[in-house]
Amino acid sequence: MQKPVIVCLDLEGVLVPEIWINVALKTGIEELKVTTREMPDYDKLMKQRLAILDRNQLKIADIQEVIGKMGPLEGAMEFVQWLRERCQVVILSDTFYQFALPLMRQLSFPTIFCNQLEIDGTGRIVNYHMRMQNQKKHSVAAFKSLNFFTMAAGDAYNDTAMLGEADVGYFFRPPDHLPKEFPQFPVTQTYSELQERFRKAGNFR
Ligand SMILES: [Mg+2]
Repeated sequence: MQKPVIVCLDLEGVLVPEIWINVALKTGIEELKVTTREMPDYDKLMKQRLAILDRNQLKIADIQEVIGKMGPLEGAMEFVQWLRERCQVVILSDTFYQFALPLMRQLSFPTIFCNQLEIDGTGRIVNYHMRMQNQKKHSVAAFKSLNFFTMAAGDAYNDTAMLGEADVGYFFRPPDHLPKEFPQFPVTQTYSELQERFRKAGNFR
């Protein structure tokens, strides 16, 4: 008897656009475009982002309004729906619940494990809290220990530990340099390609 399947998906770049880049574009605040590529120290980067929001007097509701207008990537809703009819689906993301909320609403609230922003009574984002380090990898390891067959898909460096931990892992629209560094993960570019990979590996209809 085959084990039940759980699929772990990255959020940004797989189901929705990159949140900070879009907040930068939609608010016109250039300095918000800096990512971990330019500033590898995540703590420094997040503190800088929160300081920029403060300087521009942007509160959580303003950011959520911008994020709500982004919408999921084209075809993402149908893809998630297809998967949820066939197996368990969990989104593993390094973003924050308060940022993900407007997008999760549009995806009919799939299960998502991510992190928290600390917000004061006026709606100002005061701080951020990571639930734990390397949650993507630890979550997949935990699902394996619960006797699930695990499959995963992601697009970036922060997904590679998750893809490696999963029974099968795929890149979805990664930047060109990544598959060269991690040739063990097959590359998919469209939801139908990824669907076919999952269908075969998971023995779906
Ligand atoms: Mg991503």
